Amino acid sequence: MTDMQISLQERKRATQLIRRLTPSAPLYKKYEKAATDFIADFKRAKRDIPANMIEVYSLKMVRSELFKRDYLVAFVSEGWFGQVASHCNAIASPSLSLLDLSSPPLIVIPGKSVPRSRGFSSIVEHEFVHVNQGISGRFPNLNACELKEDVLFEELMNVTQAEFEANFIQLVRDQTLTPDNELGVGLEKWCLIRGYTQGLELTLLRMTTEDFPVAQEKKFLKRLRDDLAEAFASRGLNKEVGQNFADDIEQMSKIAMLNLNQCRPDITRYKNFGTLFKWLFRKEIEEQDRGGPS
Ligand SMILES: [Zn+2]
Repeated sequence: MTDMQISLQERKRATQLIRRLTPSAPLYKKYEKAATDFIADFKRAKRDIPANMIEVYSLKMVRSELFKRDYLVAFVSEGWFGQVASHCNAIASPSLSLLDLSSPPLIVIPGKSVPRSRGFSSIVEHEFVHVNQGISGRFPNLNACELKEDVLFEELMNVTQAEFEANFIQLVRDQTLTPDNELGVGLEKWCLIRGYTQGLELTLLRMTTEDFPVAQEKKFLKRLRDDLAEAFASRGLNKEVGQNFADDIEQMSKIAMLNLNQCRPDITRYKNFGTLFKWLFRKEIEEQDRGGPS
């Protein structure tokens, strides 16, 4: 925990974001009905299934302190949660399929209630931001979007923006989980780094596992270098930070590839991972072949 000072301007920006992300009354009403209908349908369908086969303990509407609205939360078994999101405390999803039913946007939390551990309520509020993005139809979907350069570029920007909003709102309102290293770059940039690097990794992962041609991967990275700053500006994100990321594309891509290599050891099975890796690290490889830097 840090004793980070939040500026008045940052507080104002968070308030504006919360206002913009809060669904309009009719949109929320529609969501609330879909969510409560889903809870009732699930209760009915559940009666015919043996209790030990159901991984969902309960479905509840949970209050958001920031948005002053109730949102659908599924409390699920730790075992099942570990299979879908082992590194997370909670996740948001545009929809959950249960017993032939599909839910509106919701949060999934392992356990039977919201944990009381320090900072957890701020994680839940972060996920509520994503639920609101889902309600207004802009839940990013890098895992399922069309595998085309321009679509991937847009989705990467969507992830960057969505995560920026969620992290920024979360950390302005509650600094319990602010990482110590945030202080070095400032809150805004840190939130943009979080969103963008997450998006870049997901994009490279998708390209790798679905055999996106390496020539097009290179073209995609070049496009980030050329167009990222403008894309940031057009979404109201800090253009200067976008330009920093664009200038740093080679270094950031290398880090993303190293992270993927670490988190997904099976990724080396894919031929184009090695090809892109060797291309990105060509200078280092050349130096090593010559007997290391002198
Ligand atoms: Zn998030």
